[in-house]
Amino acid sequence: MTEVIRKVGVLGCGLMGSGIAQVSAMAGYPTIVKEAADEFLQKGMAAIEKSLGKFVEKGSLTAEQRAEMLARLKGTTRFEDLSDCDIVIEAITENLQVKRETYAALDETVKPEAVFASNTSSLSITELMMATKRVDRFIGLHFFNPVPLMKLVEVVGTITTSSEVLDRAMKFVASLGKVPIRTSDRSGFIVNRLLVPYLLDSIRALEEGVGTVEDIDKGMKLGCGYPMGPFTLLDYVGLETTYYIANIMFEEFREKRFAPPPLLKRLVLAGHHGRKTGRGFYDHSDPNNPKPLF
Ligand code: NAD
Repeated sequence: MTEVIRKVGVLGCGLMGSGIAQVSAMAGYPTIVKEAADEFLQKGMAAIEKSLGKFVEKGSLTAEQRAEMLARLKGTTRFEDLSDCDIVIEAITENLQVKRETYAALDETVKPEAVFASNTSSLSITELMMATKRVDRFIGLHFFNPVPLMKLVEVVGTITTSSEVLDRAMKFVASLGKVPIRTSDRSGFIVNRLLVPYLLDSIRALEEGVGTVEDIDKGMKLGCGYPMGPFTLLDYVGLETTYYIANIMFEEFREKRFAPPPLLKRLVLAGHHGRKTGRGFYDHSDPNNPKPLF
């Protein structure tokens, strides 16, 4: 644990928030996670219990350690319960208005010296920060899905974030067993800035008849040593998510490489979002044997 962070607050217990709360409790921090309603909280907590159970099954945790971790983790639906946290990591729905309203409420409730961190993938950290009075203590902490397994966290500073807060954030991330990298508040940060144009270009290559879905995937896997090809990754991430992020990045940079290709837009409009809807660039009717559709 770092000297100054004794208690961690997490806002949102969905896909990312539950993972962040889990790794915080696993690292030894008393952790409190706030949800909008009880039913979402229970769902998120059940996901954490299940994920910790898998660590026990694999032998990387004992049942006793799992119980200790769960005992460090509390759930709530009340902002006031986050008041004494030293850092609050927000992982609620990706909506600027909802996030800004939430930050304004949080700013009133949480002790003034606490640091606020957003896990947003695409919104401007500066714009979120301006809903609070903590301009020197507001950062981005961008975790990757699935949080308990993915090692990377992008640590995002704004033009007003203090260097002391950034140093503290780097140490905090390392104390979670993750690898922090520093980046500035630009849409996409480091990873999506490089990944999104590559994914969009793969779709453009497909549209131009350069290769089939299967051959482009094989090409990047076997030719570059990537763990999966771009279309397998697109279907895994969700086409609507990539489309949404690409539009935000295009809005920010106005560069063609961030512009979503027409085929991506058509697939999203048709509700073909990838694995989660059963169809995207592959047909996932049999999840163990996806069949290319283009
Ligand atoms: P999600 O929909 O799974 O979870 C969001 C949760 O926030 C929901 O359970 C919702 O009930 C809760 N919530 C909404 N308003 C709330 C409030 N006022 N107080 C407390 N809880 C509230 O979404 P997610 O995929 O976990 O994404 C969360 C954030 O993480 C987004 O900003 C997203 O951009 C970012 N992110 C997502 C991924 C990913 O792969 N899904 C990766 C990196 C970052």
